[in-house]
Amino acid sequence: AWNFAAGPARLPDAVLARAGAALFERGADGAAAIERPFTGAGFREVLADARQRLAALLGVPDHYRVLFLAGGAMHQFSMLPMNLLDPASGLRRVAYADSGYWSRRAMQEAARYAEVAVVARHAGALPLTAPPLDDWQVPPDCAYCHITANETVDGIAYPAWPNTGAVPLVADATSCFLSAPLDVSKFGLIYASAQKNIGPSGLTVVIVREDLLRRPALAAPSALCYRLQAAQDSCLNTPPTLAIHLAALVFDWISESGGLVAMASANRRKADLLYSAIDSSQGFYTAPVAHGHRSTTNVRFHLADERLTEVFLTDAAAAGLHHLRGHRQVGGLRASLYNAMPDAGVAALVDFMAEFARGHG
Ligand code: PLP
Repeated sequence: AWNFAAGPARLPDAVLARAGAALFERGADGAAAIERPFTGAGFREVLADARQRLAALLGVPDHYRVLFLAGGAMHQFSMLPMNLLDPASGLRRVAYADSGYWSRRAMQEAARYAEVAVVARHAGALPLTAPPLDDWQVPPDCAYCHITANETVDGIAYPAWPNTGAVPLVADATSCFLSAPLDVSKFGLIYASAQKNIGPSGLTVVIVREDLLRRPALAAPSALCYRLQAAQDSCLNTPPTLAIHLAALVFDWISESGGLVAMASANRRKADLLYSAIDSSQGFYTAPVAHGHRSTTNVRFHLADERLTEVFLTDAAAAGLHHLRGHRQVGGLRASLYNAMPDAGVAALVDFMAEFARGHG
């Protein structure tokens, strides 16, 4: 059976196989890894190791800090304005690009703290695209400019990064993080909650440029303050230790599997297989997103005859293909192909789709 859920999502087989012994077997101190104090050397080594492995995978430059924080990406929606606004220095507003569902959720949350300048929008007409990248006029009184690098619900990915001038670019990379190499130096801050390509839910990775930690963060409670968490090595309070242990195993697996270049080529291959099955179905299946803007991780598609959607989902589940329902806001179907989805899962889906089209076409 194959799990195409958008997140929490499938973990790599090798990680699940190792996790039992690595996390749950008690050692000489009478404690399993996840039972040890977060203040002790044992956990601190795991944390340092996870940070180093992640930094090595992404080539994180020295003037960035990697934080492992409790909570989800939605916590970051509030933490960004709470930490980065600096009215005394004239940074009174925040800039957002509207690329779909999650970027709108992010800006709604930010609007509770500051005026939001919407600097780019996607057209909304079919085929869907990311907001056009030329000519972003980001007002200089904006504390940051936020993009959602990959829209998990809409299936839209930016083909390149915008130029936001002196205003730091901030990315919600939740659903594309570690799916391909990423030039961290283009961003002031990158965040991703874990339940796609990092590990289980409950953990969010934040990579932040050190100069942004000097902002006053007056509105941020201590546990939600980037500067205080960075100063305490993400351990100002109890961090999500189980998720961090598992993330460390996932980072290992990615390195052993050839790193982010290998992830990118496998993800491209899987997405190409599925999109070409959709495009060559003579209109039986349709993909609403334009070529060049299609997510490799969240493949969104529809049946031309939407009345068949429920039949498709039932028959797919009977064939061992699960969690293919599109997000309730957009309907249709969605197959999430994160790093842990092997080619065989996509091949099984494509075979089923051809069979289904023959039976109902
Ligand atoms: N941003 C994106 C792009 C997402 O895909 C999600 C969840 O799927 C979120 C934010 C919200 O993340 P969380 O549920 O971890 O708060």
